[in-house]
Amino acid sequence: MVSYVKYLKCSRCGHIYYLNEKPIVCKNRDLGRLDIFYDYEKIKNVMTKEALAKRPFYQWRYRELMPVSDDKHIVTLGEGGTPLIKAKRLAEKFGVRNLYLKDETRNPTGSFKDRGMTVAVSMALEFGYKVTVTASSGNAAAALAAYSAKAGLETYAFVIEEAGYGKVAQLLFYGAKVFRVKGLGKEDPTVKMMKMTYEKYGWYPSPSFGPYNPYQIEGPKAISYEIVEQLGWNTPDWVIVPVGAAALLTSVWKGFRDFKELGFINDLPHLVAIQSTGNAPFVRAWKEKAEPFKIKPWDKPETIATGLEDPYPWDHDGGLKALNETKGVAEAVPDELILEAMKLLAKYEGIFAEPSGVASLAGYMKLLEDGVIDKGDTAVILITGHGLKDPDIVKKVSGDAPVIEPTLENFEKTLKEFYGKTK
Ligand SMILES: *Cc1c(COP(=O)(O)O)cnc(C)c1O
Repeated sequence: MVSYVKYLKCSRCGHIYYLNEKPIVCKNRDLGRLDIFYDYEKIKNVMTKEALAKRPFYQWRYRELMPVSDDKHIVTLGEGGTPLIKAKRLAEKFGVRNLYLKDETRNPTGSFKDRGMTVAVSMALEFGYKVTVTASSGNAAAALAAYSAKAGLETYAFVIEEAGYGKVAQLLFYGAKVFRVKGLGKEDPTVKMMKMTYEKYGWYPSPSFGPYNPYQIEGPKAISYEIVEQLGWNTPDWVIVPVGAAALLTSVWKGFRDFKELGFINDLPHLVAIQSTGNAPFVRAWKEKAEPFKIKPWDKPETIATGLEDPYPWDHDGGLKALNETKGVAEAVPDELILEAMKLLAKYEGIFAEPSGVASLAGYMKLLEDGVIDKGDTAVILITGHGLKDPDIVKKVSGDAPVIEPTLENFEKTLKEFYGKTK
């Protein structure tokens, strides 16, 4: 297998790189992202609808649109190929027709971050690294640690102090050396640690945002490819994306553009970026029409959606372009609405997602109410992370189950007291 990558180009200074230089961070250190450009003419000959129909439904089905050169470097846990679920009960509740959920909680470590890390770790092998390091609120780190474990690489993980225990538990078991780093503010202290350590020790930096690793951002493109295939080679009207660093948003946009370049679709969907009002630097930048790279970080991030808690959205330049080019929108939702969405999703559709993973649904609810999204429109909501990732939040909201004596009498008494129900 050959690589179909033509070159990489810094999104800020425009400097061009080739894969044989093993580039990761722009040498001008300007925090641009090395955007990867592919040879679509060549890919068109190989990746046809007929060829795709014969391949297994998981992320590496789109092999030609991934940057790995040699198949033997691919590190996979069977990520991607997640179901696109028609949300019939929620649709009925909202009075809408075509509502779909892309259930990314089904990925190997329980979040869409696996899609990026399967690519990032494959590239670490291709480039000959032995040690990986990341800066994360937890999910990206957990994913990196799992794929590094599979590949036999060592992992260092700097996570925010508030990281959900589910994520930290995964990290410890995958064998990563994990550190909760204090002092989340305007600057992300986990990024500071990642930067200092990879520069000093020569490790492979692998956070889930582009300026420090351009390869992982290629993975979540497959979410868009899959949506198109699952809708019978059609484009939805809207795709709603929860946003922290805006890497996922940038990647989803890139995915739809790839399929347009290959002639599989004619139009791009409107993309929607959702953040919590407790940390909304990207939404603020969009509403203020801020210039890329002049965006202000959020002073004091504070939200139950810890996976979206980046004070500085590293890939905002890609995200802002994505919204501009697709006539999209950005909106912030309060934590209360996120919690409501979390409960609705579990109760109406049987999907248990973490707050960061349902911010998108909360955003959809708001935009529907505001009349931005029409009731007749086809919308796909990305559900990005599993509910078991953050057991503390769950306990805070729902408490614990009551303990009973194994008697009918005690059952009936407790049913009344705790659930307010009589039999
Ligand atoms: C990381 C993460 C996001 C946001 O992705 P970004 O690329 O940082 O914008 C959304 N949901 C979950 C569950 C995440 O872990």
